[in-house]
Amino acid sequence: MKLTKFGNKLKKKSGISQLMDDLGHAMNVNRDILMLGGGNPAFIPAVQSVLRESMNELLGQGDSFERAIGVYDTPQGNHAFLCSLAELFRNEFGWDITHENIALTAGSQSAFYVLFNMFAGADADGKQKKILLPLAPEYIGYADIGLDGDIFRSYRPQIEMLDDRMFKYHINFDELEIGEDVGAVCLSRPTNPTGNVMTDDEVSRLIKLTEEADVPLILDNAYGTPFPNIIFSEAQPFWQKNVIVCMSLSKFGLPGARTGIIIADKPVIEAVSEFNAVLSLAPNGMGAAVAGSLVRSGRILELSRDHIRPFYQERCRKAVGWIHEYFDGLEYYIHKPEGALFLWLWFRNMPITCQELYERLKARGVLIVPGHYFFPGMDNSWSHCHECIRMTYSQAPETVEQGIKLIAEELRSLDYSQIANTEAKRPSAAQNRTKQ
Ligand code: PLP
Repeated sequence: MKLTKFGNKLKKKSGISQLMDDLGHAMNVNRDILMLGGGNPAFIPAVQSVLRESMNELLGQGDSFERAIGVYDTPQGNHAFLCSLAELFRNEFGWDITHENIALTAGSQSAFYVLFNMFAGADADGKQKKILLPLAPEYIGYADIGLDGDIFRSYRPQIEMLDDRMFKYHINFDELEIGEDVGAVCLSRPTNPTGNVMTDDEVSRLIKLTEEADVPLILDNAYGTPFPNIIFSEAQPFWQKNVIVCMSLSKFGLPGARTGIIIADKPVIEAVSEFNAVLSLAPNGMGAAVAGSLVRSGRILELSRDHIRPFYQERCRKAVGWIHEYFDGLEYYIHKPEGALFLWLWFRNMPITCQELYERLKARGVLIVPGHYFFPGMDNSWSHCHECIRMTYSQAPETVEQGIKLIAEELRSLDYSQIANTEAKRPSAAQNRTKQ
C-alpha cells in the first residue's frame, strides 16, 4: 500500500491513540483493569439523572427527538443552542458576544485540529508557523494534530516547590518569546495532565504578549468555568477579540455526544464552520438537543457548581490522601491539584523511565499514562519528562486506591542505586543548570 505523507502519519501509533485504545479496552472489554489512565469523566448520579430527564423531555416533546436525529444542523451548529450559549456567557461573564461568535465541533479535540492547522504550518509566504505552548507538560491530544510536520514549540516551566510534597509549574516569562515563527499560543486551563490552573496574572500577561505579537491566544477550557467547572481555585475566565476559548460538553458528562464549543472572533468562527462543512457537513446535534434546555435555564451552571466540582474535589482529596499513605518514604511529589481529573506525579531520580514504569504497571493490571507524551514541541532530553506519570482520580475510589497501592509496590521494588537505562534520561550539564 503506497501512502501519502498524511497516510503515513496516520499509520504511526500516536500517544493519544495508545491512550484511547487503553481506555476503550478497560472501559468496554477487560473491566478488571484498574483504569487510572484515561480522561473519561465520572458517572455522577445527580448529573446523569438530569441528563436522563432531559432526554425523556426530548422524547416526549412533539417531534423534538425526530428533528434532533433527523435534520442536519448548519455547519456552525444548532442555531438555538448557539443563541442560548451566547446568552449564558453574556449573563455570566459580561462577554460581548452573539451566536455569530460561537461554533460547535465534533468534540473540542476536532476544534484543536482545525485551529492548530489554521495557524501553524506553512503560511501564504511559505514560512513555517508554530503553535507556541508557553509551558509543557501540556495535553497529549495536541501532539499529533499538525498536518505540516512538527508544529509546536514549547518551554520548560519554572518549578515552585511547595509544602506537603507538592509543587507547581509556572510559565517562565523570562525566556518566553513570541517570535515571527509563532502563529498562535495555546494553553489548557485547568491543565491536562497536571491539574495546574495558570494564575489570572499569567493569563493576563499572555494576552498582552499575544496582542503585541498580533497572534491569537487559544485557551482550552475543557475543564474550566462555567461548565463543567472542575476547578478548585479562584480563576477568572478570559475572552476578548484575540482570545479563542474552546469548551466542551464532554467533562460535563456527555463525551459520547462529541460536542465542542469554540468562542471566537467572527472570522475564526466562519473558518471553523467551513471546516465542519468540508469534513462532516455539520456537527453532531445530540449534545445540543440534550444539553439545550440546561443551558437555557442555567441549570448547567448549578450542576457544575453544586455537583461536579465538589464531586471531583472530594475524589481528589481522597486520592492525595492515599498517595501520602502508600508512598510514604518514597521520593515522590504531586503537582498541586487545582482542577481537571488528574494527578501528575513526579518520581524524582526514578531509576527507570516512566515508559518502563507504565509497562510494568500494565503487566500488573494498572493503567496510567507515562509522562513523556505530554511534552510536545520539546526534545525528550530533559530527565523530568521521564520521571512523571499522569493518573486519573475520576474512577471508583476502590479502583483508585488499589491502583495507587500497586504503583507504590512497584516503586518500592526498584533499585534506586541504578540509573535509568537511557541516554535521554541523563540531563546534560546545561540542562541541569535550568531552573527546576
Ligand atoms: N482538551 C483537554 C485539555 C482535554 O483533556 C480533552 C479531553 O480529554 C480535550 C480537550 C478534548 O475533549 P473532547 O474532544 O471530548 O471535547
